[in-house]
Amino acid sequence: MLSFIKKIINKAQSVEQKDVEPKPKPKAETGLQPVIYTRSEHNISRNQISSNALKVLYRLKNEGYDAYLVGGCVRDLLLGREPKDFDVATNASPEQVKQAFRNCRLIGRRFRLAHVFFGCEIIEVATFRGVSEQVQDVQKTDQDGRLLRDNHYGTIDEDVIRRDFTVNALYYNIKDFSIVDYVGGMDDHRAGMMRLIGDPETRYREDPVRMIRLVRFAVKLGFSINPECGKPIYQLAGLLANIPAARLQDETLKLFLSGYAVETFEMLRHYDLFAHLYPLAEKSLSSEEQGFPKLFIVRALENTDKRIAEGKSIAPFFLISTFLWDAVKNQARENIAEGMPESVAHQQAASQIISQQLKSTAFPKYIGMAMRDVWGLQSRFCHRNGTRAYRLLDHPKFRAAYDFLLLRAENGEADPELASWWTDFQVASAAGRKKMLASISRAPLRKRRRRRKPAVKKQQND
Ligand code: ATP
Ligand code: MG
Repeated sequence: MLSFIKKIINKAQSVEQKDVEPKPKPKAETGLQPVIYTRSEHNISRNQISSNALKVLYRLKNEGYDAYLVGGCVRDLLLGREPKDFDVATNASPEQVKQAFRNCRLIGRRFRLAHVFFGCEIIEVATFRGVSEQVQDVQKTDQDGRLLRDNHYGTIDEDVIRRDFTVNALYYNIKDFSIVDYVGGMDDHRAGMMRLIGDPETRYREDPVRMIRLVRFAVKLGFSINPECGKPIYQLAGLLANIPAARLQDETLKLFLSGYAVETFEMLRHYDLFAHLYPLAEKSLSSEEQGFPKLFIVRALENTDKRIAEGKSIAPFFLISTFLWDAVKNQARENIAEGMPESVAHQQAASQIISQQLKSTAFPKYIGMAMRDVWGLQSRFCHRNGTRAYRLLDHPKFRAAYDFLLLRAENGEADPELASWWTDFQVASAAGRKKMLASISRAPLRKRRRRRKPAVKKQQND
């Protein structure tokens, strides 16, 4: 840890050479000295900051504490973007924060945090974390260097070097509206560069999730990746296997729901990270006939990005169901080959694939159920006689399953005529629907020509 701190000190000192007015410094435990960017030297204005975050900052300040906005919100404000949320860092202990606010709850076991509630908005207030040598006894790592427990409060300069990237370690000080920068984050921000604080390999070993965060931020911000930070990932990607699937749940969903899913997917694959998040999908992608799964997945990711750009809602289960579709079909084929009846083979395949995926990234039970519905409903699209079409239309997951059918049709796996029949059927009048149903019983859809591997019969449309 000491060599890591020394490296940071060197970096911070080199940053300090710049022509910046000398300012009073916050108490420094690590020897790090910040560069202070005064209000006139940056573009963050208070009217870009949520009024609730300002209330929290001012209240802490008035109670005599230090209070800063920190992390993603400062980074995004500097880019002129609207932050998703506002995080506050302070020297007040969680209990002191709780005393300062009636609308406050303390959460977290690994590290205690205060949540201050304002209707739907929550302002997260974290007490500075410590890294000094005395914390060795409370900061435990596993054999790969991963931090397991972490319960020590510290000073702002200690808090800085616990953070992941330089651009995520900028502090907006409510006392004088300045930005406090200990790690050259402003330079990297201006250069559009993602750089880990400290030695990249050590920091990835401490927390392998930082590898996927690097990709997420680089794509979302349009920043380049410092080569020293990109290089170790190829060797260390496998460490993601040690991360509890539940911890990966949020980070992986964020990866694909930020509006840049296609680029994120490509970059994750470039660094061999995708294989550790979705091993079954990676297997489909790298199989001999990778044309279909790749196109299918990329189309689904493109649709997700398009929907986000149009401000439409996104169902996370939909994407995961596209990632795993090829694996489900292959598993169903295997089950049938082993003598399982077709209908059971498909349901069983869905369960097998979902439980395999859950070993890598967890998701709530309802997501798994929705995925099963989307897969299961595919075979029902071609059975339209009697009341079947109406019943399918009423299914709660009809819309997602229909979107999935469209994707399959676009990729030549389902009959485009069938897909457009369902498009028309949804908007037809009652009389129109009757007519459509009557005409299919007279002229069934022509049999679709197979493209590649014989698809499982149950998944075909005719
Ligand atoms: P987003 O806009 O996606 O929320 P963010 O930077 O706010 O981006 P969060 O996951 O909300 O990301 O984390 C808040 C801050 O906490 C980060 O900016 C970073 O300083 C710190 N942080 C989060 N995760 C880690 C980590 N794994 N290692 C070190 N620091 C982290
Ligand atoms: Mg955040």
